[in-house]
Amino acid sequence: MSDQVKYLLDESRLPKAWYNIAADLPKPLPAVLHPGTGKPIGPADLEPLFPMELILQEVTQEREVPIPEPVREVYRQWRPSPLFRARRLEKALDTPAHIYYKYEGVSPAGSHKPNTAVPQAFESKRAGVRRIVTETGAGQWGSSLAMAGSLFGVEIEVFMVRCSYNQKPYRRALMEAYGARCVASPSMETNSGRTILAHRDDHPGSLGIAISEAVEVAAQSADTKYALGSVLNHVLLHQTVLGLEAMEQMEMAGEGPDVIVGCTGGGSNFAGIAFPFLGAKLRGGSNVRLIAVEPAACPSLTRGRYAYDFGDTAHLTPLVKMHTLGSTFTPPGFHAGGLRYHGMAPMVSHVAQLGLLEARSYHQIGCFQAGITFAKAEGIIPAPEANHAVKGAIDEALRCKEEGRSEVILFNLCGHGHFDMQAYIDYQAGKLVDQDYDEAELAMALAGLPSMAD
Ligand SMILES: *Cc1c(COP(=O)(O)O)cnc(C)c1O
Repeated sequence: MSDQVKYLLDESRLPKAWYNIAADLPKPLPAVLHPGTGKPIGPADLEPLFPMELILQEVTQEREVPIPEPVREVYRQWRPSPLFRARRLEKALDTPAHIYYKYEGVSPAGSHKPNTAVPQAFESKRAGVRRIVTETGAGQWGSSLAMAGSLFGVEIEVFMVRCSYNQKPYRRALMEAYGARCVASPSMETNSGRTILAHRDDHPGSLGIAISEAVEVAAQSADTKYALGSVLNHVLLHQTVLGLEAMEQMEMAGEGPDVIVGCTGGGSNFAGIAFPFLGAKLRGGSNVRLIAVEPAACPSLTRGRYAYDFGDTAHLTPLVKMHTLGSTFTPPGFHAGGLRYHGMAPMVSHVAQLGLLEARSYHQIGCFQAGITFAKAEGIIPAPEANHAVKGAIDEALRCKEEGRSEVILFNLCGHGHFDMQAYIDYQAGKLVDQDYDEAELAMALAGLPSMAD
């Protein structure tokens, strides 16, 4: 069909294995270090926090990691997700480019996060874990893990960044509907939380603080593990299911992408769409460009330092080498809550360091403008985070128009914005401002990097 809009894969073509980029990179990822000794850590060091199967996925060099059958069964609830050709958006932009988007908003939680929540909950259950503790910003990750926990019979406890806890009651309600316990962070339940509240009892919280609280609780009880919704290798691995599907769908469309665009908070949905294509390129295939788009208010890839840093504010995690703004960096308030993390996935940082991706940052008003243009043409309201990818794709399509080239652009529409309509209300009311991060704040956070920083 020459005017086809939607490319659907049958359930039988759901990938049987995730793709691991580590197998194809020219240089290995720098080691994870113990903060006390400065020496590389081993799998056993992570055992208090994660089930062993996930730790093995974290360090494996195998190109393919089988997706357990019970995980594929749950994936089938919404996977394979559709790939769309944005024909009306192309017309609206009057561009010769062909624009495709993979749509992850069809999952029960409305984003790509269940792709990793499901295998994480499954492996925890299989390892006899009673409870998983985690953090969440806007609630996308917390609600995804809450859903996965309810499916596999694992209790879920979520430390939710306090300002979101107060501003986003719907995702909190979603977590509670799935049976999870949701606590505003900083809380009085942990040492990390109590220390921060002692200094400032109305602290709005941050992802770094919520991670500290969750890690502290998990490390203290034998039947409890921790889970992270982004950043780690095994999370990126799980997300490759969406890029692997997109590869087959692009084949159905009879085209291959020249450019792939994704938004980056911790880097997982970007890696999910991009790494399978990057792997093919590294094995001698296409010459695809990868573009990672981040918010100008929290620009780890474009303005951070590539250095060893902690994943959390209280410095309870191991040290990982990544693009970081410093673990104490607090970004100004902006609407894409899922993009407010101080660091970037070590694997995405490594790929950037190898010169295999381009990074750019955008202010939020332009992103919402792009989101509205997209919604008016395609009917789908993107999540504020996804608007960064939408703007990246539109800018590429406009470049193609200027240069008179009909390149193929693929981007990941990582979630819908139905629970984020306050952001759209603020945008329509002209209340959004293009905040920049504070230079002094960044300088101070970078000065606080641990001594083995480089
Ligand atoms: C969590 C989230 C992000 C950011 O996380 P990544 O790991 O960078 O993908 C982006 N978009 C949505 C919709 C999210 O829920």
